[in-house]
Amino acid sequence: MMRRLLIPLSLLVLPQTALAQLAPPPPGRWAIVIHGGAGPGLTRKLVNKQKDIAVRIALKGAMEAGAAILDTGGTALDAVEAAVRFLEDDSLFNAGKGAVLTYDGTISLDAAIMDGKTRAAGAVAGVSFAKNPIAAARKVMEDGRHVMLSGAGADQFVIEQGLETADQAYFETPERRKQLNDFLAADANSAVTDDEKLGTVGAVALDSEGHVAAATSTGGITGKRWGRIGDSPVVGAGTYADDRGCAVSATGQGEYFIRVGVAHEICARVRLSGEKIVPAASAVMAEVKALGGSGGVILLTPDGQIGWSFNTAGMYRAGKDSSGRERIAIYEDE
Ligand code: ASP
Repeated sequence: MMRRLLIPLSLLVLPQTALAQLAPPPPGRWAIVIHGGAGPGLTRKLVNKQKDIAVRIALKGAMEAGAAILDTGGTALDAVEAAVRFLEDDSLFNAGKGAVLTYDGTISLDAAIMDGKTRAAGAVAGVSFAKNPIAAARKVMEDGRHVMLSGAGADQFVIEQGLETADQAYFETPERRKQLNDFLAADANSAVTDDEKLGTVGAVALDSEGHVAAATSTGGITGKRWGRIGDSPVVGAGTYADDRGCAVSATGQGEYFIRVGVAHEICARVRLSGEKIVPAASAVMAEVKALGGSGGVILLTPDGQIGWSFNTAGMYRAGKDSSGRERIAIYEDE
């Protein structure tokens, strides 16, 4: 099972059959694609109407936050950070407020951001009180000395940089506590269950200067132990951006995305072989599936290809471009 979508920048809502005839977008065009996680539970049967509506409203808000920046000539980097921050602040998603809980009942957040123009990147893993982990990742990138900070050191960096912090009571929701309790009751020794309560958030953007960027933020997976870090903050696995190839943000069972090096692998295929983004993403997601993993990716290229690919029942996702066309979707048939 593999779902995918390739839409030229200028035709975000038109049928796929029109694709081949379309030229790349002219300069000055921008686009943004976001996701709010993928998983087996994203079917019309399992998502209740209230949640369906709430998620679509949140996706729209995040997409507009990024689009407003792009539409006024802002950078792809600022756009992806703004979109991800928006979703981090919404407890519906597994990032920032509303993040899943670790085995010990604590908060441990991962995030990464990457600028396709310079291939500068910043990431934090296992931070526990950065209100917006994506802002911390951005600071790591701008600081420039390191690419990835983890645990206590990353927390210290957050303080030293004067970033906004929050305590556990801000991040934790009753739903996440219940999910952890269910997890612990089901199998106290398992780090990964069938229902991992996925809900990572991410964004990729193309700005009017033709540069791309990617950002991803997550609480990881319910009941994670021993300082487990997923793919989201791992540059090349869950997040990657390169103007010579594409920008990718992933969601899914991080262990598999790390093993396949999903985000870099997709971009490398596009860069080295000139492959279109859909075949590239499909091939790489097929590798994830062959290893037993599931999830999805959002993608775009500097020449205006926009896509997503997922092998789960659904993926929270949305996209918009400078022509005003937009699309918000959850289920595979949308
Ligand atoms: N990929 C994330 C992780 O493994 C989880 C998710 O996408 O929801 O940490």
